[in-house]
Amino acid sequence: MDAPAGVKTSTDFPLPQSMKAWVLGDPGELKLTAKPVPVPKRAEVLVRIDASAICATDLEVIYQGPPAIIQGGLPFNKNFTPGHEYMGTVVALGPGVDEYKIGQRVACEIHAGCGQCKRCREGMYTSCHNYGLNYGDLDKGHRANGFTTDGAFCEYQVNNINTLVAIRDDMSDEEGALVVTAGTAMYALTELGGLVAGESVVVSGAGPIGLMAVAVAKALGAQPVILTEMRENRMTIARALGADAVVNVGKVPDLVAAVKALNGGKGVDYVVECSAASKAVNDAVHMVNRGGKVCLAAFTHEPALVDIAHIVSNNIYVYGIRGEGKSAVHRAEAFMRQKRFDATKIHTHTFPLAELPTAIRYAKDRVDDAIKVVVKPRLEAAHKAAAE
Ligand SMILES: [Zn+2]
Ligand SMILES: [Zn+2]
Repeated sequence: MDAPAGVKTSTDFPLPQSMKAWVLGDPGELKLTAKPVPVPKRAEVLVRIDASAICATDLEVIYQGPPAIIQGGLPFNKNFTPGHEYMGTVVALGPGVDEYKIGQRVACEIHAGCGQCKRCREGMYTSCHNYGLNYGDLDKGHRANGFTTDGAFCEYQVNNINTLVAIRDDMSDEEGALVVTAGTAMYALTELGGLVAGESVVVSGAGPIGLMAVAVAKALGAQPVILTEMRENRMTIARALGADAVVNVGKVPDLVAAVKALNGGKGVDYVVECSAASKAVNDAVHMVNRGGKVCLAAFTHEPALVDIAHIVSNNIYVYGIRGEGKSAVHRAEAFMRQKRFDATKIHTHTFPLAELPTAIRYAKDRVDDAIKVVVKPRLEAAHKAAAE
């Protein structure tokens, strides 16, 4: 990277001109190519990516396109690099940046809001009204790396300083890549939901967000925390992360009744829907008690039939969640720093960045009971060094 005036670099972290980067061709097609190392602008740093986790939303982007928007449309064949759950090391500072130091390890949030729209000014930068308007000649300031701007399946990326969360040195790269996942669960329950200790929570579906929702709910003092799920191995992990009860969706005749029975027959204060099953949305509105809240955190592929009269007559709140927001990730990192839960229980596999297609196959087909699969650019280097 040729550092323009005002950009600080360090001889401790010499920067190459180009880097390895995966780019999306046709749906499902990833090619390894070279791209120039990006240059941080004002209020931005360059992050050397040390670990990226594969998220179900990456699979959506790679195979279907949305929610990524590149140049106003689908992300295919636009030299776009996906990947959005990552951590790394700060290796260059944009002009005027003194909030972070070169060499500092950071977890990286996905969204840098434009900072000027109504939602950004409320702290809801993942709902930025200038989402996706940061391409071509337009620069509205909003970035969502891996969705509207280049992401993390490469060696370096630029991040706005507002998107960085410093992590402690003894946190592993893999755990660091899960800080934002935990932050999303935090945002669902506290900032958007308003959960306080002693309230009851159901999480439906034990994907990574669901499992983190169990862990965060428990750490926040929720009781009981109930998981609904079908896969035994994930139920075991949920129990280890603090679930008070687990209901096997495939083994009870009436899921709603089974959940209610675990909480005095009244239903719970919150349901966090993470299963993406269209039926689960209607189940969720029947699992909450009057005035309760349903957070929708998964994309159903078919429209869901929901009993609206039940929602209306019971004052039920239903809200979607897009990523993180309002410093939720900082709070999640604080819990992880205090070892209030062990996010690494959801990490199952690590591959070198060069083996991204294999890593994606593990995540997509749940090979070997994969949950969170991580790729590491420097693992490759480490392997190579060991071989030489
Ligand atoms: Zn994600
Ligand atoms: Zn905005």
